[in-house]
Amino acid sequence: MSFPFENASNEEKVAKIKAIGSTHPNNLMARHFRADYFGFRDESQQNRLWQIIRTGVENPDSQMGAYAQNSCDYAEFEPLFEPMIRDYHKIPLEQEIRQKHDWAAPLSSFNLVDIDPDLKRVSMRVRVGRNLADFPLPGAMTKAQRLEFETLMIKAFSTLQDDLQFGGEYLSLTPGLPQTIDDETYENRVAAHQMFKNMEGDPYLASGGISSNWPFGRGMYISNSGDFIVWVGEEDHLRIMSMRQGGDLSGLFGRLLTGLEKLGGLIPPFAHSERYGYITSCPTNLGTAMRASLHLFLPKLTEGGHNLEPAKKAAAKFDLSVRGAGGEHSDAGLGGLIDISPSARLGVTETEIMRKLYEGTSALWSLENS
Ligand code: ADP
Ligand code: MG
Repeated sequence: MSFPFENASNEEKVAKIKAIGSTHPNNLMARHFRADYFGFRDESQQNRLWQIIRTGVENPDSQMGAYAQNSCDYAEFEPLFEPMIRDYHKIPLEQEIRQKHDWAAPLSSFNLVDIDPDLKRVSMRVRVGRNLADFPLPGAMTKAQRLEFETLMIKAFSTLQDDLQFGGEYLSLTPGLPQTIDDETYENRVAAHQMFKNMEGDPYLASGGISSNWPFGRGMYISNSGDFIVWVGEEDHLRIMSMRQGGDLSGLFGRLLTGLEKLGGLIPPFAHSERYGYITSCPTNLGTAMRASLHLFLPKLTEGGHNLEPAKKAAAKFDLSVRGAGGEHSDAGLGGLIDISPSARLGVTETEIMRKLYEGTSALWSLENS
């Protein structure tokens, strides 16, 4: 049964977090929680802190267990966030946190067919999370702000629609708009991995306030070519991505970069800090806010698609994370189809992420075929 967070006293919450720390040592919020730091905040800061870590208290099996609610939270509550951030992104204490960006990846020639000619039709996806500095992060947005944000994006997309390379259409989930799509169209887009799942079914996002007011202010833009997609109103204000079948990773990155620059020129500035790079709701995404993933069939490492654990263990050696074929918190697909992506997003550059994906895939592929 979920913890009755709303009515619990501070002492009960602290006791609960300590208990989670021993039963769920991988919950990073509970692992690094310091009761004394909380104790010395004033009431308004304490309330904000509880809102940030609520997801990790209500969902003990969280990997991170915290969602920022405002762009300023990472700087203002650094003693809370920093140990979790260093732990997840594997940044040792003696190393300064300072995010650098480097988009040289599209200029190189990383192609999966150089690993194995059989990898010529892999489903590749690279996305970045972005949030506008002008709005609270999704966990703290009101319904009116979600709608205001969507309106702003619809305006930007109407300009992008005229672009030769990036022209496309906006599909909204907000009831009653000219762009609103019906349930069947929505489900088809989810099944095609283009649109995000109904967020109401995700307890982690619900506890963080991120799925509130669903489906208002939610939607997606998709280019006519189908390989450039922008999510509006998911875990971050925007998830901007390129998705293609093939092996040309450099081309995929190039497509994302061009689209990102075009769209960025049409909207107000993104929230960014010198230390943490692009600000995102989840501390796992800070820095580049980039997740580059491949859908790979690994029947041996998933025991025929029945068990993600051996694949996770093998992938961790190469700093890769494993998800099921339906995205986070899903199971392996038929025949052992899984999603692999470099785990670190902060303290690495965009180009390094692509290299890690390429090299990690090469290593995992040898294991699978050994
Ligand atoms: P993220 O959190 O990085 O945005 P999720 O794990 O929530 O990604 O997955 C979002 C959607 O993207 C899911 O439908 C998932 O199956 C799909 N997806 C992720 N990687 C790929 C890929 N390489 N090819 C096709 N679909 C993908
Ligand atoms: Mg996600």
